Amino acid sequence: MKLDPIVHQIDFKNRRALVTGAGKGIGREIAHMLTRFNARVTALSRTDKDLQSLKEEIGCETVVADLADPVSARQAAEQAGEVDLLVNNAGIAILQSFLTSTVEAWDLTMAVNLRSVAIVSQVIAAQMIDRGVRGSIVNVSSMAAFQALEKHAAYCASKAGLDQLTKVMAVELGKHGIRVNAVNPTVVLTEMGKRAWSDPEKGGPMLQRIPLGRFAECEDIASVVCFLLSDAAGMLNGLALPIDGGFLAT
Ligand code: NDP
Repeated sequence: MKLDPIVHQIDFKNRRALVTGAGKGIGREIAHMLTRFNARVTALSRTDKDLQSLKEEIGCETVVADLADPVSARQAAEQAGEVDLLVNNAGIAILQSFLTSTVEAWDLTMAVNLRSVAIVSQVIAAQMIDRGVRGSIVNVSSMAAFQALEKHAAYCASKAGLDQLTKVMAVELGKHGIRVNAVNPTVVLTEMGKRAWSDPEKGGPMLQRIPLGRFAECEDIASVVCFLLSDAAGMLNGLALPIDGGFLAT
């Protein structure tokens, strides 16, 4: 195929994108970038105030829901309506040592980081199939799926599970022309990232192992997500793609 630099720019005109966890951090930047690439964005998150300020910035539609609750997660996906591009970004990290990690923290982590992705994607993928849309789904996983991190037992397990869920979805939905991929970012100093990594004693050794010498910015993640959602990535399916500045090469 001859690539035409005009025709093959990323352009999501006439596409509807649903971004979960769009109120803050990485998800918010993904919503911004998708809008700049002409997508009509529906932003889903837990805190309405965040969504209202995002709406003022980019003119998106909004859905308030707590994805930890399976009924709310399903209803929120149904409320989002017809969607061509889905970004499952909402996630939580509850820092506990393995020996003292609680049942409540395990359940909540799995409910948000893993189960809600399955529930939302079921609803959205089913309507993509009904409408004959060859959609694209990106799940925001983590380098924690590959790398064991202290005080992150439930988080690491949830993200490793998310990578495997991504692959099963890629296999089953690929038959319908729907591509499903995961991205696996290194540290991004969002509210979540700061809680775990802003202490130089913890962040320093991690930073030293990243050949590019910096943590990722939200834009570094959003641009890869937009690429994977786009037709330029038309043969990419079932990936767990590290965005790690070369960490895994060391
Ligand atoms: P933030 O905590 O900054 O933002 C997370 C967003 O998800 C918030 O808007 C939050 O809403 C929303 N959210 C959380 N729980 C729920 C829920 N139950 N229902 C609905 N919305 C919810 O996190 P990041 O931007 O840092 O993380 C985004 C994704 O990137 C996560 O999946 C995370 O695991 C992943 N990631 C992050 C890394 C990092 O270093 N920051 C590294 C690798 C991966 P509210 O604040 O209202 O709860």
